[in-house]
Amino acid sequence: MFEHVPRYAGDPILSLVQTFLKDPRQNKVNLSIGFYYDAEGKVPVLDSVAQARDRIDVSAPAVYLPMEGDAQYRKAVQEAVFGADHPAIAEGRIATIHTLGGSGALKVGGDFLKAHFPGSELWISDPTWENHYNILGGAGFEMHAFPYYDAATNGLRFEEMLAALRQLPELGVVLLQPCCHNPTGIDPTREQWAQIADALAERNAIPFFDMAYQGFGDGLDEDAWIVREMARRGGAMLVGNSFSKSMSLYGERVGGLSVVCPTPDEAARVLGQLQATVRKNYSSPALFGSRVVGTLLNDPGLRAAWHGEVAQMRTRINAMRRGLRDRLQALRPDLDVDYFVTQRGMFSYTGLRPEQVDRLRDEFGVYLIQSGRMCVAGLFEANLDAVAQAMAKVMD
Ligand code: PMP
Repeated sequence: MFEHVPRYAGDPILSLVQTFLKDPRQNKVNLSIGFYYDAEGKVPVLDSVAQARDRIDVSAPAVYLPMEGDAQYRKAVQEAVFGADHPAIAEGRIATIHTLGGSGALKVGGDFLKAHFPGSELWISDPTWENHYNILGGAGFEMHAFPYYDAATNGLRFEEMLAALRQLPELGVVLLQPCCHNPTGIDPTREQWAQIADALAERNAIPFFDMAYQGFGDGLDEDAWIVREMARRGGAMLVGNSFSKSMSLYGERVGGLSVVCPTPDEAARVLGQLQATVRKNYSSPALFGSRVVGTLLNDPGLRAAWHGEVAQMRTRINAMRRGLRDRLQALRPDLDVDYFVTQRGMFSYTGLRPEQVDRLRDEFGVYLIQSGRMCVAGLFEANLDAVAQAMAKVMD
C-alpha cells in the first residue's frame, strides 16, 4: 500500500542534532539548533515561568480551548507584541489568536492569506529560516527571494533589498523578521526599517512579520519597534510571535498570530476567518502552555521578573559574542571578526563554507549547520576557548 511513499530525508537541522547526540566525544559543542542555553550549558527553566506554572490548578479538567485560544492569553499576546497602550489595541483593530508556536502562526497566517488573496505571491529574505519555505510553500504560495545577506561584508544588502521591495506587485506578501534575523543575525536599522515601511506602503504590499526572538536583540519593547510603528501608521499587516525562546517553553507551543486591520469591522471579519482556518487545521490550540503564559503576562510582578530574565539571557549572549570575537581576534589578527558583535540575537552567519563546517564537526566536535549559521546562545565559558581555537584553525 505505501511502497511508493518516498523516504523522508529528514530535516537537516533536526537530523544534525541526532548526529550530535550520538557523537561520543566528551568535548562536543552543539551550536546548530536554535536553543538558548544558560551559563552551565543547560536549557533553562525560567524562574518567572516556574512561578506561573506553580499557580496553575493542574487538577482542573482539560477541556478544549476555543479555536482562537484563551481570552486572557490572547490579550497578553497583543500587549506583549504591540505594547499595552498601543492605539491599534484601543481601537479594536487587531485580531489575535493563539497559535502552536511561531510555526503555527506562519501556517494559519499563510492559509488565511492564500484563501483571501489567492493571486498574491510571497517574498522572503535570501537567506531565511529553511522552514519558511516548507510552511509557506506548503500553504500554496509561489515564493521569491529578495536580497538580504552580503557575504562580502557579513552585513545587509540594503540598497538591493529596497530596490526589490520597490518593485513588488500590488498585494504581494512580504515576510520580514523584525529582530534577530534567523539565520544571519543581521537586522536593518530603524532608519532602514522606516524606508522599508514606506516602500511596502507605496506598493500596497501585505507585510507578514515573523517575530520568534523578541527580547534577544535590544529588549522586549525595542525589538518590536517596527511592528508597533507600522501598526500605528494604520496599514494592514500580520504578525506571528513566539514565546518558545523568550520563555524557554519550546515544547508547549505558545505563539500568536495578530492581524492588524484598518477598521474594527475588518478585524472582526478576520478573526472569524482565523477561527475557521484553525478549525480546518487542528480545531483548537494547546491548553497548558497558554495557561502558564497567560498567568505570567497578566501578573505585573511575574511580568517584570520575566523582563529581567530575558535581559539576562540577552546579556549573556552578547557577552559570548564579545568573548568569541576577542578570542578569534587574538588568534587570527589577519581576519575581521567584528561581525560577531554587530550581528544580534541567537544566531550569527559565520560565512564558513560547507567544507569548513564539516571540518569543525569532524575534527573538533563543533556543530554548526551547513549554511555556516552558528547558534551563539550555545556558547558558554566552558566551551568558548575550544570553539574559538577550532574556528581559528578552519577560517581563511
Ligand atoms: N520563525 C523563525 C524565524 C524561527 O527561527 C522559528 C524557530 N526556529 C520559528 C519561526 C518557529 O518558532 P516556534 O518554535 O515557536 O514554532
